[in-house]
Amino acid sequence: MFTKILIANRGEIACRVAATARRMAVKTVAVYSDADANAKHVGACDEAIYIGGSAPKDSYLRWERILNAAKVTGAQAIHPGYGFLSENEEFAQACAEAGLVFIGPPPSAIKAMGLKAESKQLMEKAGVPLVPGYHGHDQGSVLLKSEAARIGYPVLIKASAGGGGKGMRAVDKAEDFDAALASCKREAINSFGDDAVLIEKYVQRPRHIEIQVFGDTQGNYVHLFERDCSVQRRHQKVLEEAPAPGLAEHMRQQMGDAAIAAARAVKYVGAGTVEFIVEQQPDGAMNFFFMEMNTRLQVEHPVTEAITGLDLVEWQLRVACGETLPLAQSQLRIIGHAIEARICAETPDNNFLPATGTLHVFNSPEDVTFERGGLANSLGAGVRLDAGVREGDTISPFYDSMVAKLIVHGQTREEALARMDVALAKTHIVGLQTNVQFLRHVLHSRSFAQAQLDTALIPREQAVLFKQEPVGVAMAVASSVAKTLLNERACERADPFSRRDGWRSHGLNLRRFEFEFGGEQVSANLTYLHDGALHLSFGETAGTLTFAAVDSGVDVQYAGHRQTVSVYKHRDVDHVFTAQGATQIVVIDLLAHAGDSQGEGGRLTAPMPGKIVSFSIKVGDKVAKGQALAVMEAMKMEHTIAAPHDGTVTELLYAPGDQVTEGSELIRVSS
Ligand code: ADP
Ligand code: ADP
Ligand code: MG
Repeated sequence: MFTKILIANRGEIACRVAATARRMAVKTVAVYSDADANAKHVGACDEAIYIGGSAPKDSYLRWERILNAAKVTGAQAIHPGYGFLSENEEFAQACAEAGLVFIGPPPSAIKAMGLKAESKQLMEKAGVPLVPGYHGHDQGSVLLKSEAARIGYPVLIKASAGGGGKGMRAVDKAEDFDAALASCKREAINSFGDDAVLIEKYVQRPRHIEIQVFGDTQGNYVHLFERDCSVQRRHQKVLEEAPAPGLAEHMRQQMGDAAIAAARAVKYVGAGTVEFIVEQQPDGAMNFFFMEMNTRLQVEHPVTEAITGLDLVEWQLRVACGETLPLAQSQLRIIGHAIEARICAETPDNNFLPATGTLHVFNSPEDVTFERGGLANSLGAGVRLDAGVREGDTISPFYDSMVAKLIVHGQTREEALARMDVALAKTHIVGLQTNVQFLRHVLHSRSFAQAQLDTALIPREQAVLFKQEPVGVAMAVASSVAKTLLNERACERADPFSRRDGWRSHGLNLRRFEFEFGGEQVSANLTYLHDGALHLSFGETAGTLTFAAVDSGVDVQYAGHRQTVSVYKHRDVDHVFTAQGATQIVVIDLLAHAGDSQGEGGRLTAPMPGKIVSFSIKVGDKVAKGQALAVMEAMKMEHTIAAPHDGTVTELLYAPGDQVTEGSELIRVSS
């Protein structure tokens, strides 16, 4: 086995590879860019080498620097992860020339599978079924258009060098062909530096089912079953699972055999994935066609680890060292069902626009330690989180928007699905937009729950996926109020001289809260009753509010519903997470605006418990609306109380230094 490897990647996959290396007592070297100087993957490795600027072309794609980093640190092999240099045959070749092992297939196999058109020509010879289409060298637009007509519309134009869902155009009719071809070629040349295209029949409502294959240097091959990656947006995977629901055993065998034939045809070594598009016939029969082979470890490899109990990175390292495949086909079994969700920084409600920002809060389901084989033999919770970031880290615009991958395993699909839902509910991210709630809506959708998987699932279910508000105003308001009161009690404990028990012996005490929820203003009144109970009302809603801090958050009971919620305050927004979903409620600081609304009948009350610091007026003074009258100290901050209207100060009810409770009348101003 190697004693030291360099990981030529970043983020979750660099951390993932490092975890297996550590378990195998292999030392690791990270590389990092400016933006990643303090990144998680840098700390996850034994040492790290700086390789340049934040843009990938200045660092993670600079292979001479990466080779040099390996040389300087004495690494014997390079793991490329996915993306970046992982499918670059020149890099693989350069590794060999530098005397380093490239942990991946031989350069010739990468090259053979690198272009979709060429690889289809090869697969045709190897007897692997292909999507009907055109993948010839002649790129004349007249010929391409006549090929499209021959194949029959709708067709898909694909950049031969494409990847990551880019460089694809579906065309419904001949009139649209020329424009689609031109735009596809533009994107292809910009993204991949190569505008060659192929044309395929556009399979209606297809499933994306891919086979994980492995080869060793002795010419042995196995497949590690399939993954269903049909749930996609913009031709990019969102949820992946294994095994593929409803896949008949004979289909699994045929697809596995075809995938191995594909790998064998290019003398493949290491981990690879053969992607098939699966056409579903009305009678339930399925036809599968080769789409492409990804000559690297895939993002979604953990679902295969979960159902096989194997560590694919360990297999990669063993094979790269020249060892024989650890298991033969007959020794491989599918255990249970696994699902992966890609948690991305993006706004699903705004066309999945990528988002950037800082993870002010990043709480995930119980910190899962990476065990051999992931979770398959999981007697534990069956949940795994592969993250490349920690709380406080930033998702920058330089790299892709994936924050983490959540992987669950269960005995059955239903169990895995239920676990995923709970795990997503416990994934609390504050500071940037993510797709976590969207993923939960997908899980709850009829199509997903019933395993009616195809690439049209998201558009078909859009009515229940977008612009959903799973948490009602009552729970949002009650949670926010409960959190505020709990925070105040915590402050009291820390500073017993500022007791704010919010209760006055001589009567009911009223405190007002002002919120903005779902674009609407909400005024809530909290009444402290004689018996110590709290009554909360807003609009038509009213009831007793009870709450208590518990390990996992706050137990809140209000309006006939008890729930355990988590509330995180960030700036003026309370981020509320419940079992149903997450929401945000804007808390309007009444102290900052006290003068605007507290002026009923000229009474000025303290909307929060605190201490009077000073009065800037005395009885008899004429005051103008908005003028500062007093300064109060509450929640360790000073707040100004302003005049609600023009008038004359008739009475000051407290003196500086006095403690006041919520609702205490402070000043009388006559108009
Ligand atoms: P999967 O491994 O599941 O197929 P993706 O297709 O999303 O996952 O690709 C994995 C990673 O590789 C992503 O970060 C993606 O941006 C990147 N990627 C995939 N293909 C290419 C390509 N041809 N050029 C550059 N990056 C790519
Ligand atoms: P990439 O290299 O970007 O991953 P693929 O060729 O693997 O490109 O295709 C990506 C996705 O596009 C597939 O998972 C599938 O959803 C869709 N797709 C590809 N080919 C077809 C086709 N012929 N008909 C319908 N959908 C297709
Ligand atoms: Mg693909």
